[in-house]
Amino acid sequence: MNRFDYVRATNVAEAIAAAVEPGSVYFAAGTNLLDLMKCGVAQPGRIIDVTRLPGLDRIEWLADGDVRVGAMVRNSDLAYESRFARTFPSVAEALLSGASAQLRNAATVAGNLMQDTRCAYFYDLESACNRRLPGSGCDALHGQNRLHAVLGWSEHCIATHPSDFCVPLVALDAIVELLGPHGPREIPVEALHMLPGSTPERKTALLPGEMIVALRIPAQAAGFAGHARYLKLRERTSYAFAVVSAAAALNIDGDTIHSARLALGGVAAKPWRARDAEAWLRGRRATTGAFAKAADIALAEARPSGDNTFKIELARRIVRRALSVALDGTPAIMPALPASPFSTLAGANHV
Ligand code: SF4
Repeated sequence: MNRFDYVRATNVAEAIAAAVEPGSVYFAAGTNLLDLMKCGVAQPGRIIDVTRLPGLDRIEWLADGDVRVGAMVRNSDLAYESRFARTFPSVAEALLSGASAQLRNAATVAGNLMQDTRCAYFYDLESACNRRLPGSGCDALHGQNRLHAVLGWSEHCIATHPSDFCVPLVALDAIVELLGPHGPREIPVEALHMLPGSTPERKTALLPGEMIVALRIPAQAAGFAGHARYLKLRERTSYAFAVVSAAAALNIDGDTIHSARLALGGVAAKPWRARDAEAWLRGRRATTGAFAKAADIALAEARPSGDNTFKIELARRIVRRALSVALDGTPAIMPALPASPFSTLAGANHV
């Protein structure tokens, strides 16, 4: 690890003032940042510890029905908050399918949003990687790339975004509240992560010194609570990133789809909202045929970036399945999860 300055901010204004210094990074649980520092990929000159900032660890239900989740709320605390889990079940399901129990207890909302790709070449300083060192090339293009992107990639980078949490957030139109040297602003979670294009080193839409202070999920998203699921396919059942995943939510009127939400994970450098598929489903009868067509539309622009053609069909299948289980209704208990907020037992439901 390189030498760095350590600043423990006592309030948000102090943290933002300290972050104006080039080479500064905010530090919360550090579940990704410390890994990046240990292997030399991240070499910040200044670490600003925001773990003790007041007011960022609250879950607030606003008068208009929106929920506002502070940046420092821990993943487990959010998933097990019973009103939150009942209102936004696919978000709770996504949180509980991520990482391990220990990591979920430490990891924060903002940290989950800001985590970096798990492309192995990105973490290996001997490999060419445009995301880490612009202009150096991309060893993944002709290397081990079976888990890399099938949507939105460029010849400069084929990495995927690893978050589960962000996938239903994008589907449900969640907003990120930011505060920076030039004041507050808001952006949709969908606009937070960048596709690589010719500048894969530009990972998010954050401006220098900007800090995520909260996440807001709009009240309208609660209308999907009865039919919302997050499904994740991975290479082992815990502590693994998604090969592909899907968040599906339906608002059903009889057997007709009033509105649909659909986003995919593990397929691109950002959570992938499938708006064309959503539009196609609107007003149609909820049938397996309609779900198959929606899956085809969602993956219409997919193309392999290497040895990963299989991911396209896998993604179609998980979209069909996510829509189908969402139609069945959000279950009271989800025994397939390693730990479920829907358990009738207190605490985790280990199966
Ligand atoms: Fe780097 Fe992206 Fe290529 Fe991976 S896919 S080596 S992160 S440029």
